[in-house]
Amino acid sequence: MTGSKTDISNADAPLHVELGARSYDIVIGQGLIADAGGRIGALMTGSRAVIVTDDNVGPLYLPRLQESLSAAAIQHASITVPAGEKTKDFNHLQKLTDELLAARIDRSTLLIALGGGVIGDLAGFAAAITMRGIDFVQVPTTLLAQVDSSVGGKTGINSARGKNLIGAFHQPRLVLADLECLDSLPRRQLLAGYAEIIKYGLINDPQFFDWLEINGGAVTDGDKAAQHHAVLTSCAAKAAIVAADERESGVRALLNLGHTFGHALEAETGYDGTLLHGEAVAMGMTLAYDFSQTLGLCSGRDCERVRSHLNAIGLPTKLGDLAAASSTAGWTADALITHMALDKKAENGKMVFVLARAIGDCFINRDVSIDQLRAFLTNALTEKN
Ligand code: NAD
Ligand code: ZN
Repeated sequence: MTGSKTDISNADAPLHVELGARSYDIVIGQGLIADAGGRIGALMTGSRAVIVTDDNVGPLYLPRLQESLSAAAIQHASITVPAGEKTKDFNHLQKLTDELLAARIDRSTLLIALGGGVIGDLAGFAAAITMRGIDFVQVPTTLLAQVDSSVGGKTGINSARGKNLIGAFHQPRLVLADLECLDSLPRRQLLAGYAEIIKYGLINDPQFFDWLEINGGAVTDGDKAAQHHAVLTSCAAKAAIVAADERESGVRALLNLGHTFGHALEAETGYDGTLLHGEAVAMGMTLAYDFSQTLGLCSGRDCERVRSHLNAIGLPTKLGDLAAASSTAGWTADALITHMALDKKAENGKMVFVLARAIGDCFINRDVSIDQLRAFLTNALTEKN
């Protein structure tokens, strides 16, 4: 394996997210759920835990986790919520907090989020606000959650007015990323998570992107060594950015590469499942590179590399194809721009874009001309494979 910018000298040692009193470890490996009790018990102040999971993940991994907690003499209860993005709303948050209180939790009870990003965001937010904040542990079971959502402490739910608009920063006490979970993940979900992995290479680690061009297929085909390297490098990249800027007042915004475009596409589909978040991000990263080229910032060769790697993995890269396949007829540049302006990343009415100078060289730009953006999107909407 070629190296990457991130220094991962001992691949088996936990990664550390350095945030002073809120610091924590990320452990990546196989069999971590079966072995979770010891690690979780070591950081508990009380003796009770409540596991929150969804109805896809529960049947697959809950018994394993329960056994491990029992073996470590940790008392536990579990709450199962419906799988899917719709569960990240006020109704389910209310129900979940109510069930937590009915289970007579106290301030020393630990919450364990066992599932994908939906469970991590919902359970993490419940942990942030119940009894003014209890500890929680992330056990991410999707690739997206392992490389992105479980790290960094952003928790929350969606509002009828948009995604992730209600939430809190609440860092987990520990992240356990068990690579075995990826074997049961539907391929489409795996590929969507892979889009966020590519993102880290594109932002500031060109060697990692080189590595992914060679080894990306092994990652998505289930090769554990390749998955370990990809998840570790991604988490190390995210941990470094979060440690530098926990609340996104600066450099953390780089993690939104592809997301300003991507969120607009997700909003346009009405979150109906036509487009998974990672698929929208893949499309969004292609658009961010192509737009950068249009602005004279980045070479066509780099845009082509981004597009062909995403294509090779099986992720969407042509906006025209997506628009044509969407159940919502009539995507327009102006409709997409309206979503972008409403995105919570917009500041004082200005859209914040992550643009590229090259692969591994992205930067934050707050001065995009709406006219250039409209012309670019109008053109991209008619482009097809
Ligand atoms: P998800 O949690 O909905 O999981 C996707 C699907 O896979 C679900 O149906 C789930 O039940 C199923 N699943 C999960 N693990 C499985 C496994 N091991 N085997 C089989 N099926 C499994 O979605 P996701 O893609 O993990 O996360 C998306 C969410 O994450 C979005 O709500 C997004 O806003 C959020 N997110 C948050 C952050 C953050 O920093 N907090 C970052 C990125 C994304
Ligand atoms: Zn994302």
